[in-house]
Amino acid sequence: MLKQMTNESFVSYEVRLHPQRLEMSVKMHITGDVAKGKNGGLLLELPTWVPGDYSFESYGRDIFSITAHDARGSALPIERKELNGYLIRVTDGPVLVEYQAACYEPDLGDAMGIVDTGYTVLMGTRYLFCVDFVGACSVDYAEIPDGWRIHHPSGATRAGNTNKWTYPSFEILLDTPVCFGGFRLLQRIIKDTIFYFVFVDKGLGFDEKVNEFVDKVSLTAEKIHDVFGLFPFSDYTFILSLNPQADWGLEHLTSNMSGIGPEVFVDDGLFATGIRVCAHELFHAWNVRRLRPAPFGQLKHQLCCGSFTEGLWMAEGFTRYYEFLISARAKVYSPDQFFSAIAGYFQHLTQQPAYSRVSVTDASLATYMNHSKYPGRVNNSIDYYDKGMLIAFGLDARLRSADKQAKYASLDDSFKAFYLQYFGDGTAIPNDYVGYTTKEVIQFYEEVQPGLGSILAAQLMEPGNIDTDSQLEAIGFEVKWLDTRYLGLFFLNDGAPTIYGVADDSPAGKAGIAPNDVIQAINGFAFSQKGLEWAGSQTASVHLEVLRGHRKLTFQLTPAAFRKMDYLLWKGTDVQAEKINRWLDTEDFKPAVGQRFDLDFYDNFHGIEKMV
Ligand SMILES: [Zn+2]
Repeated sequence: MLKQMTNESFVSYEVRLHPQRLEMSVKMHITGDVAKGKNGGLLLELPTWVPGDYSFESYGRDIFSITAHDARGSALPIERKELNGYLIRVTDGPVLVEYQAACYEPDLGDAMGIVDTGYTVLMGTRYLFCVDFVGACSVDYAEIPDGWRIHHPSGATRAGNTNKWTYPSFEILLDTPVCFGGFRLLQRIIKDTIFYFVFVDKGLGFDEKVNEFVDKVSLTAEKIHDVFGLFPFSDYTFILSLNPQADWGLEHLTSNMSGIGPEVFVDDGLFATGIRVCAHELFHAWNVRRLRPAPFGQLKHQLCCGSFTEGLWMAEGFTRYYEFLISARAKVYSPDQFFSAIAGYFQHLTQQPAYSRVSVTDASLATYMNHSKYPGRVNNSIDYYDKGMLIAFGLDARLRSADKQAKYASLDDSFKAFYLQYFGDGTAIPNDYVGYTTKEVIQFYEEVQPGLGSILAAQLMEPGNIDTDSQLEAIGFEVKWLDTRYLGLFFLNDGAPTIYGVADDSPAGKAGIAPNDVIQAINGFAFSQKGLEWAGSQTASVHLEVLRGHRKLTFQLTPAAFRKMDYLLWKGTDVQAEKINRWLDTEDFKPAVGQRFDLDFYDNFHGIEKMV
């Protein structure tokens, strides 16, 4: 049935799930002025991207059997329009659009949702919207399988005991993953706020370890609350999958969807990583979903054309810094691991030629193109997460080791003040919200401590300028360097012997080796990772045989001099050690003078780019 025609525009959806077919069907009722269309046409679109996932995707590809009818039940012509859209020829009055959607690709599940035989998560990317009306809308989850439950994150209004929710805007619908099925639901109350943990699947060790995991994640939530002094939501939902195909990690206003992998409960390192990932996505509830870099304040008009900001160094980089800091405060990582991670990020960022070529603001503006790994990336793009993290560490170290009292004594205090100044203490996004600019951040920190704004400006607007080594010295460490040699070959995770990247100013770059070349032999012997590392660190030239597609090529290259951070020594005072204890919210940092800190811990959920 179509709704009574009113002038007020409204869109209501009716959804039916078909888990055995891995599909859903949607009825979209469009009423009010918007249904009349413009110039005889009503344009419907799906978003081409979603906040937090800055890449254009063909979300519309899975829609099929689409029809449109008017209030009298007469078919209306409907045609495909541009990337993800449809144009309906309308006369006037309410319009009913019906379509089916195939909904199964686990990898894209955090952005597109997924209909599995055992559970479903629905995302707004499955709903066409009227380009000329992105206001309030409702969804009636009209048909779900017998025995399936619903878990709905906060931010929408439920109509009584029905399965119908009204969303303040299409943007909020797009921001709300709704869960159905036989998921496992755990709850914790943190500072009077309910946190829900929805596990859509399980894995080995689940029953034995899940409560410990949830308790640890809850502790990170408490530590983030300590930073800002508030939770900006009435409740919060973690939607978690252990499916290795579910490479999820997407933040929302009151929830997130994260993939924590099948071995999270059987491997201590992966257990810690899982908690850290959850802390990262939760931190986004403040930093980027609420406190937004301009022009992210106004996303509802940019759902098809994209939105480009230079501010992801703070939105993602500060979040990355806090994912480690909060995890250290929750005792998921030791102080040694925290500083090893900082040093590791410094090493991995600065060894790429792009570090001295590309500014972090430019890398952020180009995120739709550079976020995914690609050949040549090490030469022409940096990860704004990594540089942003080191900028955050530098600010924190400077404020905490300042001789003269700054306006704020830490990144925590200054970032909280910045958050309150540029977002406020509310939960919803104000209608006229704009977001902060880079200039405003620089000005803010210049006022926090004279000179800090200029340091920040150089780090943001120019390539390079990261002085993590000096900041480690300033807080009490002595940085020890290793003079070694290198070839300039990069490998991603366990990708060897396939080459991921080649530094163009390195011996390998000058010799003509290319990304995706597969090393067959080193000096006439079969490839081994250790063998390559050894050969690359010697002064003698190295003979490499590689396979490039179907061609076999040989290269002779001579390792060049290279200096890298080797380890840290503690040379600080008791006062400096005590400052670090307060920084990491611990009492465990009690190094003896001359104590060595190894730099063997480094983890990056974008992948580890190892250079030889
Ligand atoms: Zn993030």
